[in-house]
Amino acid sequence: MYRYELHLHSSACSRCGRQTMEEIVTALKEKHLSGAVITNHFYYGNTAIDKTLPWHDFVMAYQEDYLYGARLAKEAGVKLLFGVEEGISEDRGKEVLIYGVPAAEIAARDELRLSNLPMLSEFVRSQGGVIIQAHPFRDRFYIENPNTQPRAELIDGIEFYNAQNTPEANEKSLLYIKEHPEMIGIVGSDAHVPQNVGDTFIETSQEIADENMLVKVLKERKFTCFWGEEAAARLKE
Ligand SMILES: [Zn+2]
Ligand SMILES: [Zn+2]
Repeated sequence: MYRYELHLHSSACSRCGRQTMEEIVTALKEKHLSGAVITNHFYYGNTAIDKTLPWHDFVMAYQEDYLYGARLAKEAGVKLLFGVEEGISEDRGKEVLIYGVPAAEIAARDELRLSNLPMLSEFVRSQGGVIIQAHPFRDRFYIENPNTQPRAELIDGIEFYNAQNTPEANEKSLLYIKEHPEMIGIVGSDAHVPQNVGDTFIETSQEIADENMLVKVLKERKFTCFWGEEAAARLKE
């Protein structure tokens, strides 16, 4: 059995991140996780990367900390995969997680600097990736419309449990995924500090070797989600 964290942030790339790649790798090892997807804040999110850079340079700078972490992880015998958390430009504070799209493909498209959800969604799908709504129904000062949902046809799934969301928001998300069985339902720790790494994870029977395989596992629903007390108990087994 393999365990992967699907949503976390590092301090070099997310302005709100409070953990280095060294700390992330150590936390994964200590908690006996097989790996994690790094989903730092991107252009329309709380990125730590200089947004005045030309698009290509911005994306390459964004990827840098991930590449550094991936090398450390390899030496330590855990896996880091590349992901993105991007803000929805036309709906302030709402965010999506993107899996299975290489940084080089994003860097090659200057028009993504002006993206809205329909554009982003089309791009991600054309790349064979998946686009998943992060922390639905989150109610915080920076989110304009906490209770509205993006058009269902523009997303492939939702994070029905986010460890940083309130129980009320997670309850609404769980109801939403039950009403949309066609969507992929995932869990995310949204870890910004090492203590939160492993608050949620997925278990798979197959090792996830790369981002393409991650997408395949997600699309085929070949994973089980763990969160809350059950996740904590499982990590102690
Ligand atoms: Zn953040
Ligand atoms: Zn996040």
